[in-house]
Amino acid sequence: MDPEVPAAPAAPAPPTPPARSAVVVGAGVLGACVGYHLALQGVRVVVVEEAQPASGTSGATFSADVSHLKTPYAYYKLNRQGAEEHRLLSETLGGPAWRHPAPLVQWADGDAAHRALRTRVLRARGWGHDCRLAPASALRDLAPAVDPAACAADEIAVYGSAAWYDAPRFVHALLDAAVKLGAETHYGVAVTGLTRAGDGRVTGVTAGARAWSADTVVNCAGPAADRIAALAGARLPLRQVPGLLAESTPLPAPALTAIVVTPGVDLRPTADGGVLALSWDLDTHLDPANIRHGTAALDGVPRELYRRASVVLPGLTRARPLGARVGVRPIPVDGLPLVGEVATVPGLYHLVSHSGVTLAPVLGRLAAREIAGGRPVTALAPYRPDRAVPDSVLDENLRVMNGRHDGNRPVR
Ligand SMILES: Cc1cc2nc3c(=O)[nH]c(=O)nc-3n(C[C@H](O)[C@H](O)[C@H](O)COP(=O)(O)OP(=O)(O)OC[C@H]3O[C@@H](n4cnc5c(N)ncnc54)[C@H](O)[C@@H]3O)c2cc1C
Repeated sequence: MDPEVPAAPAAPAPPTPPARSAVVVGAGVLGACVGYHLALQGVRVVVVEEAQPASGTSGATFSADVSHLKTPYAYYKLNRQGAEEHRLLSETLGGPAWRHPAPLVQWADGDAAHRALRTRVLRARGWGHDCRLAPASALRDLAPAVDPAACAADEIAVYGSAAWYDAPRFVHALLDAAVKLGAETHYGVAVTGLTRAGDGRVTGVTAGARAWSADTVVNCAGPAADRIAALAGARLPLRQVPGLLAESTPLPAPALTAIVVTPGVDLRPTADGGVLALSWDLDTHLDPANIRHGTAALDGVPRELYRRASVVLPGLTRARPLGARVGVRPIPVDGLPLVGEVATVPGLYHLVSHSGVTLAPVLGRLAAREIAGGRPVTALAPYRPDRAVPDSVLDENLRVMNGRHDGNRPVR
């Protein structure tokens, strides 16, 4: 047993007091957002990142607004709020744009998949989402770069007020703003231990010979968050699911102006006028036992991904593949975020989520309010990391990863 980790107390600790200081572990979208909001509330913030900002999942992500896919209603609303707060933050902070509004169009193959798509559009409409069903001919205006022959469906779904995000740019904008508010950042420094008081409360982090103490340590380590939790003897119900992204050089005219979700490949523009491609069913061919962030050679699965993208966007044959990257999705077992402390380990606040780019602005703000205020925020109650999460609950992503695609599109 790690000598720095005293046994967890038998009884839950008293309520967490407001934090005046915080160490944030990890500088991805979630660490950057909570760090910014904590600094805004006058908390002394230290961000410790083992590599560079946005070098984890936030640097290898499709990062589209995926709120329309989310259920139940409360979780949908949280995602909508995330998308809205991206808009507000980009206005407040200014600087180079990370938020790129674009319609999202989607079609499905086969009756069952099309029925599932219709059902989702009707559900989202019922919740007030800007979406509709349209004849496939609408693709000509919405996404002129798409080859109409690639769409075998008569009808497509159109989500009008979607967006994609340049996640690394977002991370840097928030960290810069946090530093202006007094936050300290340490990059290239890996947290290797947690310090704890006699009552079990986490009081800081160690990183080799270095140490920082704080009222609250915020675990924003993304797919490595379970390893940080384990340093205090806590267990997070988290899975790591790899995803492959292939990117191209700029697409010759007509450019891609929409996010395009098809049965075999998802596509979105990049900031340089290129295309980013992803395929959930191809991701099932990645070896989850041997996954880490990084670049991938453009053969095998990456080559097939680029080929599928070129079928939908013929212009890609006149662009060049820029390369492929693997990102690791941090997916809580039931698909919902993990936010807050585990009762037996006070002082260590977890903030981990899939669809973290969409959710980061709202989760970061609410978590900071909770940490700085010392009082629970009701909207976060369903997402406590020590809720009962049966291992048998699989979200749609995990069903796909288990090779049991049931005709529904996976959530991202
Ligand atoms: C292929 C793919 C597609 C996706 N598509 C979407 C989408 O369309 N929409 C959406 O909203 N989301 C999407 N996601 C999910 C989203 O990208 C993630 O939820 C989000 O980036 C997670 O951010 P994070 O800050 O939690 O983690 P990360 O970005 O991984 O940041 C964690 C940081 O912690 C650091 N760290 C780890 N261990 C330590 C340590 N011991 N000490 C110090 N630092 C440490 C890492 O270096 C890393 O920088 C996708 C993800 C993938 C992989």
